[in-house]
Amino acid sequence: MFVSAILAAGGRGTRLGAPTPKQLLSVGDRSILQRSFDTLDAHDNIHEIVVALPVDIAAAPPGFLVSSRKPVRIVGGGARRQDSVALAFARTAANADVVVIHDAARPFASADLFTRVILAASRGGAAIAALQAQDTVKEATTAAGIHVVAKTISRDSIYLAQTPQAFTRQVLAEAIMQGSSLGVATDEATLAERAGHPVRLVDGEASNIKITTEHDLRVSQAMARGREPGARSQESLLRIGTGYDLHRLGPGRKLIIGGVEISHELGLVGHSDADVLCHAITDAILGAAAQGDIGRHFPDTDPAWKGADSIGLLKRAVEIVRTAGFVVSNIDAVVIAERPKMAPHIDAMRRKLSDAMGIDISAVSVKGKTNEQVGALGRNEAIAVHAIAMLSPL
Ligand code: MG
Repeated sequence: MFVSAILAAGGRGTRLGAPTPKQLLSVGDRSILQRSFDTLDAHDNIHEIVVALPVDIAAAPPGFLVSSRKPVRIVGGGARRQDSVALAFARTAANADVVVIHDAARPFASADLFTRVILAASRGGAAIAALQAQDTVKEATTAAGIHVVAKTISRDSIYLAQTPQAFTRQVLAEAIMQGSSLGVATDEATLAERAGHPVRLVDGEASNIKITTEHDLRVSQAMARGREPGARSQESLLRIGTGYDLHRLGPGRKLIIGGVEISHELGLVGHSDADVLCHAITDAILGAAAQGDIGRHFPDTDPAWKGADSIGLLKRAVEIVRTAGFVVSNIDAVVIAERPKMAPHIDAMRRKLSDAMGIDISAVSVKGKTNEQVGALGRNEAIAVHAIAMLSPL
């Protein structure tokens, strides 16, 4: 039996509110997309994979998609899920016996679940993974904006659809052709039903969650940690990073440290606002997540960052490590400046920095230090900062 798989990853997951498309967010050691793809790639009964991605991602797909040992085709998705699946279906092998469709946003579906759904479809034409409702199910009516129970439905007959969903090639072809003319469908089984095909129910898995909300993302992070060999403790997943920066002092420049403008006869010289404290902290945060450094993300050869507000760069770094699965736990920094005195400005800096990082001010420490008139720092030629950042898992 030849089985084609379609991985539906054509949406952007806007309900999560993250700037990164949902399927590229990390869950544990891999992105959501890669976790789902790896299950298909490793499955003995799946012979080819067609991945529907947003058009921009399809144009420059992640490396793991192009290094598979199976035939993999990548297609740009359509406006709706069913359009993306139809475009992907057109690229499946004409001799496929069964086509199995899976939402990339369900990265925890087991290989066994795929096997069972594929088998049921090969026997009955169409099959889906579904969970029987555990909660009591109410049907509601709404009047004047208030929801009221209209009736209680026996939960014995209520099943909640998941993916994978599998179909013989003929059934899926008919479902896509006939069903799509009848309007929007949130899954392929709906299209098959509309085309008059019985759809078998296969016991789904409670762990086969669909990542839609911020809460789902947190739950999936915890699930991924639990699945790692020897499930490591939370403490061992803490990450630490160090950052250092130095800028020369010169005339005719504002002196901005930690987002605070300090009145002084000299300012720090640099391509951006030269906020030495923000730069060192940004490097510490990026470093803790092994996400490169400030020069890689915000190169000073790029006119976009000329005169840039470094508080903005710090905010961006927090987003970058968040995408890698981490949040900032705490920061400690030392500002080495002969003049001016840092002490009167420390609390304002801590406030600005904690706001930018979205963490409590009690987790942000900034200390001032002189260099005892020794060396370039001691001669007031420059200001330097050492910073350290601790990150914890999202
Ligand atoms: Mg700098």
